[in-house]
Amino acid sequence: MRIVLWDTRKLDVAKDFAGGYGVGQFPGGGGIGGRVVRHFFKRDYRPTALVFAYLAAIFRKLGHHVEYSLDRVPVGADVYIFNPSLITLPLERMAMSEALAATPGSRVLVTGPVAYSMGEAFDGLDVTIVRGEAEQLLWKFDDVMQSSERTVEVGKVADLDELPFPDWSPFSPGRFSIGFDFTKFPTGLVQQSRGCTLKCNYCPYIILENSTRLRSPEMVAAEMQRGIQLYGFRSFKFRDPLFGVDRKRVFRLAELIGSLPKKIEFSIESRIDLLRPDVLRALRDVGLTSITVGIETPSEETLRRYHRAPIRDDKQRDFVLLCRALGIRTVAGFMIGFPEDTERSIRTVLRYAKAVNPTFANFNVVTPYPGTEFFEEIREQIATFDTSKYTVYTPVLKYRYLTPEQVSELHAKCFLSYYFRGRWFWANAPLVWPRLQRMGWRLPPMPEPDQNVHVGPPKPHTSLPVVQPGKEDANRRVA
Ligand code: SF4
Repeated sequence: MRIVLWDTRKLDVAKDFAGGYGVGQFPGGGGIGGRVVRHFFKRDYRPTALVFAYLAAIFRKLGHHVEYSLDRVPVGADVYIFNPSLITLPLERMAMSEALAATPGSRVLVTGPVAYSMGEAFDGLDVTIVRGEAEQLLWKFDDVMQSSERTVEVGKVADLDELPFPDWSPFSPGRFSIGFDFTKFPTGLVQQSRGCTLKCNYCPYIILENSTRLRSPEMVAAEMQRGIQLYGFRSFKFRDPLFGVDRKRVFRLAELIGSLPKKIEFSIESRIDLLRPDVLRALRDVGLTSITVGIETPSEETLRRYHRAPIRDDKQRDFVLLCRALGIRTVAGFMIGFPEDTERSIRTVLRYAKAVNPTFANFNVVTPYPGTEFFEEIREQIATFDTSKYTVYTPVLKYRYLTPEQVSELHAKCFLSYYFRGRWFWANAPLVWPRLQRMGWRLPPMPEPDQNVHVGPPKPHTSLPVVQPGKEDANRRVA
């Protein structure tokens, strides 16, 4: 069969992020400074979504002919596969119509979280909604093709090690780059685990499952080796929402990454309390260059309200300092634009971000993801259900004390005020531009163990318990 994986790069969406719902890019408000920040968002050619690379490998393994089509609909395919993001949904609906009209008798399969949570978004189109993990098509493709049901439940992959390695060849992998994480390119995506056991009620990663599935470190390392050899990858972004759940596997993986034929860079995403100094050192020694963490807000009340397990603020600061001393960049997410936010509460988030001073601070506007508890909880306060606006950089809620325009202005202000200041530059420049290190600009010395470094505003919640991921009862207690 001739199978087309349809995709778009219009609207600058990173489809892999936000649990597969996709995120947009900072729109660049705030004059020339805003344009400078936007440039750093736009300069990358982000890797294609990992799920498409899995699907390419799966369909080839099943003996089909696979094509990747960007922003056009080729005529004559047997099957068209879509993996829509919230933001590109209108474009994808148009492409589905076009495929069905141009090639009568073809099948259109819609996969991914948008298909999972928002089947009604495809009303009026003669498509099949594949509900569950798209990689299940390795085992269920025939069932799906034979089914006359509009929605086919496929479940999730029981053993991730049974999947073939992703096939990046249709997607121009030589162009992939993620500049905020790496200095070496091209960049591949890889996963050691899926799912999360925590319960942040706005999080799209736990819609499909509130548990974790892990791959064997040997399979992950073998996939990375293949990525280096076949596609020339020199860096890898781990797409686990919570890397490092299993310490033993992390150390084993570090050992295997250290034995790869080429030294590579890699980045991970996790919670600060999972990444102890010994883990950081072991990973740094074999190429860890960047860690993404969610700090979200210093407001304990807000965190508790949305079931986010808080981490003591001195731990967050110490973590950033330790990473910096080890030469690891930190990319921290902060959330602004909760319905009850005020100008003051948003400025408090900004002040806190500056005090923690990560290499990159990403200010996300609170976005209600369909399928999350948060979405249902604040349904009445959602200003628009037009998901093409759900970029995480656009206000989409009704705010009690602010207008959407004020939220937008404060949002742009957060970016500008964060980056255009000396303390950010002096602390982070040698990490962002490693050439400076070669010219003699030294990273700061290692902080003392358990040193309670205090900079900036007063510590608002140092007495909070540190919650260990995986201990769900403990997590509920703080919720
Ligand atoms: S820690 Fe919270 S935000 Fe992060 S993946 Fe888990 S549930 Fe989602």
